[in-house]
Amino acid sequence: MLKVEANFQLGSLNTLKLECIAECYAHVSTTGELREALSEARQRSANINVLGGGSNLILNRYLPGMTIHMGLQGRELLEESADDVVVRFQAGEEWHETVLWANAEGYFGLENLALIPGSVGAAPVQNIGAYGVEIAQLIECVHVVDSRNGDIRGLTAAECCFSYRNSLFKTSEGKHLIISAVDLRLSKRPVVNTSYPALREAVPHDAATPSDVLTAVVAVRQSKLPDPSVEANVGSFFKNPIVDRVTAEHLKGDYPDMPQYPVDANTVKLSAAWMIDQLGWRGVEELGVSVSEKHALVVINKSARYASEVIEFTDKITSSVSERYSVSLDREPEFVGSG
Ligand SMILES: Cc1cc2nc3c(=O)[nH]c(=O)nc-3n(C[C@H](O)[C@H](O)[C@H](O)COP(=O)(O)OP(=O)(O)OC[C@H]3O[C@@H](n4cnc5c(N)ncnc54)[C@H](O)[C@@H]3O)c2cc1C
Repeated sequence: MLKVEANFQLGSLNTLKLECIAECYAHVSTTGELREALSEARQRSANINVLGGGSNLILNRYLPGMTIHMGLQGRELLEESADDVVVRFQAGEEWHETVLWANAEGYFGLENLALIPGSVGAAPVQNIGAYGVEIAQLIECVHVVDSRNGDIRGLTAAECCFSYRNSLFKTSEGKHLIISAVDLRLSKRPVVNTSYPALREAVPHDAATPSDVLTAVVAVRQSKLPDPSVEANVGSFFKNPIVDRVTAEHLKGDYPDMPQYPVDANTVKLSAAWMIDQLGWRGVEELGVSVSEKHALVVINKSARYASEVIEFTDKITSSVSERYSVSLDREPEFVGSG
């Protein structure tokens, strides 16, 4: 029997440790419970919020509607050939545990995505990526439940419309789709991707194994990123902005040291961290919120209780980047709820 709780405190269920009251809250452990929670929300005409590990959310004080906390567990080998496997992971599985399990089984491809906090179900939502790999490259099928009617279906990677930190699930066309499981195609032959410069430095030898890469990714991340269980944060607070080539050339003329990464023939990715660093924000603390000493893209909640303080502080960063570079920064985590 599904338990629905009213006025539930989400403070311990988000890694930014912001206080937030959910109007209704249900933890779901099976697809049946998930469909039951959706049906209950429809009966109450309540909107639906999905919560995984809460590591990519900025929760405002009050979250109206039904908050469904994804707890579906389990993994299943669906296909196996000499070259690869397809494994189904339920949405509530912890992402880093999934990476460790796959590597230990000899199913390769996830190593570069090690130590990203959160759940399997949230991984396709923002097409998680790190060190030259995005989950989009490994997706065979994303299983979804339609919150409008409870219908179940599977989407191919192409249907998920993945791009940089984006997917169908973030758009108005896909917001009603709740991810219940993800099928990943993983290689049985050792795959090693050390193309990303920081990783290449950490794994310099050519005979590196996937386990070497996994170990290096964990070590590099631990040295560069604050641990959310110690310092409340949501990883990168801003996306790296993508600008057109002409804008990038002007910026390079004005700021010759500015790092730039071509995306395609027409667009260039800029480093949000570099701009924030140049403006002297690293280590600055206001309103109980600070920019991490370790990484200029990471915002730490030191003592703020509410999202309003985080937003007020980070808006100052966005404004200063806009004034100096005429570049607008977009937030990476989703801001939900009302103040
Ligand atoms: C220290 C740190 C480092 C990080 N590093 C990276 C990184 O290297 N790369 C990267 O891409 N991200 C990174 N992140 C961001 C975050 O870990 C990922 O976005 C992660 O996938 C979020 O998972 P979650 O379960 O915590 O999602 P939540 O924060 O709970 O939810 C995020 C969004 O997904 C939606 N959602 C969650 N589950 C489902 C579901 N089952 N179905 C439909 N929608 C769902 C939520 O409604 C919300 O909109 C980092 C975060 C931290 C704190």
